[in-house]
Amino acid sequence: MNKPLLTQPSRDVRIADVKVPRSLVRSATGFGGIVEGAYLRGDLICKNGGSPRLLPASLSPAPKLVLPRFTEAHVHLDKCHSVDRMPAVGGNLRAAIDAQSQDKAFWSEEDLRARATRGLQELISAGCKAARSHVDWSHGEGARTPPLAWHILKELAQDFRDHITLNLAPLTSLEDLADPQTAKTLVREISCVGGALGSFVLDQPNLPKGIQTAFEIAMHHGIALDFHVDEGLADGLDGLELIARTAIETGFDGPILCGHACSMMNLSGDAMKRRINLVAQSGLSVVTLPSTNLYLQGRTEGTPDRRGLTRVRELRASSVPVIVGTDNVRDAFCPLGRHNPRASLALAVLAAHLDPPLADLWPMITTDAAQALGMAQTFVDEASIDDLLVCDAPSTTSALDDSTQLYPLKTYADRTVA
Ligand SMILES: [Zn+2]
Repeated sequence: MNKPLLTQPSRDVRIADVKVPRSLVRSATGFGGIVEGAYLRGDLICKNGGSPRLLPASLSPAPKLVLPRFTEAHVHLDKCHSVDRMPAVGGNLRAAIDAQSQDKAFWSEEDLRARATRGLQELISAGCKAARSHVDWSHGEGARTPPLAWHILKELAQDFRDHITLNLAPLTSLEDLADPQTAKTLVREISCVGGALGSFVLDQPNLPKGIQTAFEIAMHHGIALDFHVDEGLADGLDGLELIARTAIETGFDGPILCGHACSMMNLSGDAMKRRINLVAQSGLSVVTLPSTNLYLQGRTEGTPDRRGLTRVRELRASSVPVIVGTDNVRDAFCPLGRHNPRASLALAVLAAHLDPPLADLWPMITTDAAQALGMAQTFVDEASIDDLLVCDAPSTTSALDDSTQLYPLKTYADRTVA
C-alpha cells in the first residue's frame, strides 16, 4: 500500500506593490517590473519559496521596499556594551585601547556571554543574516592559546546559527604570527569556524615582514584576511599600500577586507590616485566605520575639524568595493549605538557625503559586504523568501530611518497565496 503524500504548507507568496532597488538585482532580464528611478516596481511573486519576479503592479500610495537580509562586516562582540562600567573614557585610539584593556578584568564567561548575546540579538533584530566579529587575541606566548572570549563567541555562533551566520576573526598582533605554534593554533581555530585571519596594522616596526607572514599563512591554508589598518590621521601610514602590494605580488586570490584606512584622507592629487589605483588593482575591499572614526579620530583639545573617515567617495569612483560597518558599540572606542547596519549606512551618508540616489548604496551592507567576507551574495532576483526583508517604507530615505519597521518576507502580514 502506498504511503499517503504529506501535504507541505504553501511557500508561494504574493506581495502587492513593492519596490526593489536596482542595485540589488543581479539580472533585470526576466525579473520584471517597471523602472522607476533607482528601483524596479511591481507585485512580487515567489513560487515555492524562491524565484522572485515582479508582475505588473497594483499601484498604491504606499509601496514597500524589498531587500535582502543585511550583512554586518565589522563588529567587536567581545567588547560591546561595556562602557557604562568604565571609570573614565574619552580620548584617542590609544586611550580607548588602554581603557578597554583595563576592562578585561571583568571579562568572565558570564559577562562575555551576556554582552555578546545582547549584540547578537541586536544584529538579528536589525535584519542581519551574517556578521563578522573580531575577537581580541592574546600576545606573546599567550597567543598560542585561544582567549576565553574566542571560546564564548564560538559557542554563541553555534547557539544562534539558525538565526545568523557569525563569522569570527581573531584580532592578532602581526609580530605574533611569526611564531609557528601561534600560527598553528590560529589556523586550526579559524578553519574550525570558517572565519578570517585578522591583524592590527598601524605603525609597528617591520610591517612588510608581518604582512607577508599573514599572507603566507592565509595562502597556505586558504583562509580570508581582515586587517584593521592605518586607523589614524598621522602622515606616512603605509599599511594599506603594503597590503595592496603584497596582495598583487603574491597573487593571493582570497577575500581581503581592510578596515578604517583613515590616513588616506591625508593624500591628495597624484599620491592619492596612485594609492587608489594600487588598491583597485589588488582586489581588496575597504570597510569604512563612521561611528568609531568620528568619535576617535582628529582629537584636539577643542572641537574636531576632521572627520577621520577614509576616502569613501574616491575609492567608490575607482570601483573599489567600499562596505559600511558598525564597529564598536557602547565600549571604550565608541560610547553610543546599537548593532544596526541601517543606522551605520545612514551615518555614512552624512559623514562621507554619499549623495542620492541612496538606493544605490544598499550593496554596502548587503551584496558587497557578503562578497568582502567571502560569503555568497544574495541578490533579490536570486533569493529565497527566507533571505528577504520587507521594509514598510516607500523609499530608501525612509528605510534608512531605523525606526521604520522591517519584516521577514515570509511572515509579512500581507502574505497571500499566489
Ligand atoms: Zn574594529
